Amino acid sequence: SFSALLDVLLVGKSPGREGWRLLLAGLDDGQDASLRAFAAEAARKRFGNGVFIRGLVEISSWCRNNCYYCGLRRSNRFASRYRLSQEQILDCCREGARLGFGTFVLQGGEDTEQDDDWIEDLIGKLRMEFPRHAITLSVGERDGEVYRRWRDAGAGRYLLRHETRNEAHYARLHPREMDGARRRECLRTLKALGYQTGAGMMVGTPGQTWDCLLDDIAFLEELEPEMIGMGPFVPAAHTPFARHPAGSVSLTLRLIALMRLRFPDALIPATTALATLDAHGREAGILAGANVVMPNLSPLAVRGRYSIYDHKASGGSEAAEGLHRLEQDLKKIGYHISYGRGDSPGHEVGK
Ligand code: SAM
Ligand code: SF4
Repeated sequence: SFSALLDVLLVGKSPGREGWRLLLAGLDDGQDASLRAFAAEAARKRFGNGVFIRGLVEISSWCRNNCYYCGLRRSNRFASRYRLSQEQILDCCREGARLGFGTFVLQGGEDTEQDDDWIEDLIGKLRMEFPRHAITLSVGERDGEVYRRWRDAGAGRYLLRHETRNEAHYARLHPREMDGARRRECLRTLKALGYQTGAGMMVGTPGQTWDCLLDDIAFLEELEPEMIGMGPFVPAAHTPFARHPAGSVSLTLRLIALMRLRFPDALIPATTALATLDAHGREAGILAGANVVMPNLSPLAVRGRYSIYDHKASGGSEAAEGLHRLEQDLKKIGYHISYGRGDSPGHEVGK
């Protein structure tokens, strides 16, 4: 029953595949709401009413990959491409530091011009200028040796969603040149190198079944990532999935709540995709157990061109310069911004 499964989660155990199935697909609306309330309570117990902020710098919209869902895929002739210089990125981080961010997230497509050495060099410069800030990378799949060099240069965290654990579903979302097993290998390497590692999946991608999501949960239980990024699929123009419906906000919230209860220490963002589909998506995410938001620090001139999906939110309180608005929005639901690095509990000394 629901309350027995909840008890299993609350003592730190796994409900097992059939338990997860019931929690994912078998709850009535009242149970769904109380699940979110329990999850928010679990987050407050661990992190108080503070929400960590990460300054997101979208460093390039060029990508050599061709994921079917993403507006930045290489075959999209209509994508507007830009790449930031190291000096532009440093400027974004200077602005971020001034605004009070303790973490920078450098995210981009797999841009062959911003190559491994270039990124290593950039990390070195950031480390020099911001010795106490956390540096998070999210630039896709690389060799283990490259991840090691970047770690040695001072990057401490890495976001690489596994996207979907189910092989057939992975093949439905990516061309044959891409391989889910390789991506999961990257995640294991990142963990072994001591990165605070983020995995996660999109919700509602074409062809996703309950069993796909159960495979995702099993994978997360096996990997035990420090961060779990889950957002609804949002259709992107000029991609093969442009006409597919968006993923469900309420299912995304349920997954956030379930992962919070299973991983009380995890850093779980209320994602921009959630805020894009629902005007109150970000707050709803926090009230379902999320404890991170990632306001946009990219230069105003390029914002809007990092168009991974349609109508992506990047203004208002999704924007770094809108921190006061974010603070107000959070206050309305009884939360506040937590400044500082916001490391994963137990990783505070990591750089
Ligand atoms: N290129 C890197 C990578 O793929 O890991 C980082 C950038 S990529 C745009 C970041 C994430 O955006 C992906 O992991 C994917 O989950 C998400 N994403 C891409 N297209 C999306 C879409 N149409 N709807 C929702 N999320 C999407
Ligand atoms: Fe490139 Fe990442 Fe988009 Fe895939 S999801 S096309 S790897 S930017």
